[in-house]
Amino acid sequence: MVERGVRLANVDGRAALVIEGRCVDVEARSAGAFSADPMEALGRWEAFAEWAREQELRDEDPDLDPVRLGACVPRPRQVFAIGLNYRDHAEEAGLDIPETPMVFTKFPSCLAGPYSEIVLTSDRVDWELELVVVIGRQARQVEPDRALLHVAGYCVGQDISDRRLQFSDRPAQFSLGKSAEGYGPIGPEVVSLDALEDPGTLALSCEVAGERMQEGHTKDMIFGVPELIAYLSGYCTLEPGDLIFTGTPAGVGSVRTPRRYLAPGDIITSEIEGLGGLVNRCVALR
Ligand code: ZN
Repeated sequence: MVERGVRLANVDGRAALVIEGRCVDVEARSAGAFSADPMEALGRWEAFAEWAREQELRDEDPDLDPVRLGACVPRPRQVFAIGLNYRDHAEEAGLDIPETPMVFTKFPSCLAGPYSEIVLTSDRVDWELELVVVIGRQARQVEPDRALLHVAGYCVGQDISDRRLQFSDRPAQFSLGKSAEGYGPIGPEVVSLDALEDPGTLALSCEVAGERMQEGHTKDMIFGVPELIAYLSGYCTLEPGDLIFTGTPAGVGSVRTPRRYLAPGDIITSEIEGLGGLVNRCVALR
């Protein structure tokens, strides 16, 4: 049976529990035991999750208003991202299947809320729907079979990519090309793994302007979440709140025939089974 789990959101900059589509303000309900900062809940994830599981809705708890949602993890220390982590995407890009995870960063200043606008920085901006891992306990040299114990939960992410900047020279510059302001919408909430039927097999899909562009399954990752945590934590200490964008399945715009890039007015809808979705509208650079 699937548990209710813990759903941590950022509502107007304040940590909130989401229960049945309604919000419980964390600082108020805990009488200050947990602050309004969502990063503090992640920094004390085990105690927070234990408290959160005991909370019940009260009459005064408002409905969740999606437009008030900010990035569910607003200030991670580190944001890792993995390239070419689905076989079908590596194949469509005409690139070899990697033998070790291909790692870059999205600078944390690119993070945005689940309904944020995406300001197009060139005429070659692309979408990449991804499962995002949120670390909940410090991880150093963790073995794969223990790795999920270090996860607070998952959320949906878009690794928005300016291909013009990314491939403006050789070698490519992934990190800056994927870090323009607003190029990392995440959310809508951090969802603990016990809220998911099977966290290892989640269907994901992305539509742009009403057209289904990506459809995949997280079980098809080349390096699964435990392997990614083991690999990264072998070199870097992962701290609570750190994020891992785990790669995108086939169907990005830059390798379609004909090529398709984001245009002002396009709505990107990104969904992952059990985690909810993002809805991001593209606007022109002024
Ligand atoms: Zn990506």
